[in-house]
Amino acid sequence: MTVPVAPQATPELKAEIFAKVVADTRFHDYVHGCYECGICVAACPSARFYDFSPRKITQTVCREDLDTFWEHVNVDVWNCSQCFSCDRCPRGNSPGGLITIMREVAVTSGLRSAKQALEGGERVVYKIMSTGTQVSPDMLQPEAFPDWGPEVQEVSNNLDLWRRALPPETLHTTTTAWEINDETLVELYLIWHMTGVLDMIKAVDEGLHMILNDVMEELLEDHDIVVP
Ligand code: SF4
Ligand code: SF4
Repeated sequence: MTVPVAPQATPELKAEIFAKVVADTRFHDYVHGCYECGICVAACPSARFYDFSPRKITQTVCREDLDTFWEHVNVDVWNCSQCFSCDRCPRGNSPGGLITIMREVAVTSGLRSAKQALEGGERVVYKIMSTGTQVSPDMLQPEAFPDWGPEVQEVSNNLDLWRRALPPETLHTTTTAWEINDETLVELYLIWHMTGVLDMIKAVDEGLHMILNDVMEELLEDHDIVVP
């Protein structure tokens, strides 16, 4: 993932984006103030590898410091692994939950930084919508996993054989992790549609949104489903 740089913005835009975060229905469940105890940082895997702190993000939001918030909502939120290990806050906060809201607002508001951060995710999103699984064995290629050494070359050469050796028949595939039936794909599409995920994808990547609709068009017709 490319970590973006915060662009210049007017005070009005910063205030508008901040207001959207606070207006989210989950906000008051996730943010109650902050003791600055650092327990969330100690639990956070991303804090070990990046200049990243769930404490700073929570504090910034509690203090309504719009300039620092703007840095966080454009840059830092994309370093969170969304593992929710920080959900052990003695103040009852969920820094990971707050970051989820900030990411969603960044996406739905069409911030350039969100588009930049999510570049490269299209392949994964397309794979999920078209096959129901996020990764597939045929992604296991030497150029993608050079640290695996010569083993990966051997596995990729004989992928079909390895897969057929697995007991459940649904795993005898190399282009998807396992076979998913059409009903499940339709359900997945409808969940994404009804929960606004497709709208978020459209805000970030209109081309991808069109491709996903094309992928699903025939399946929806087969199931006599008309999406409003
Ligand atoms: S654990 Fe909670 S109270 Fe402590 S620094 Fe993190 S957000 Fe603040
Ligand atoms: S959800 Fe994000 S902020 Fe919380 S512990 Fe995981 S990586 Fe850190």
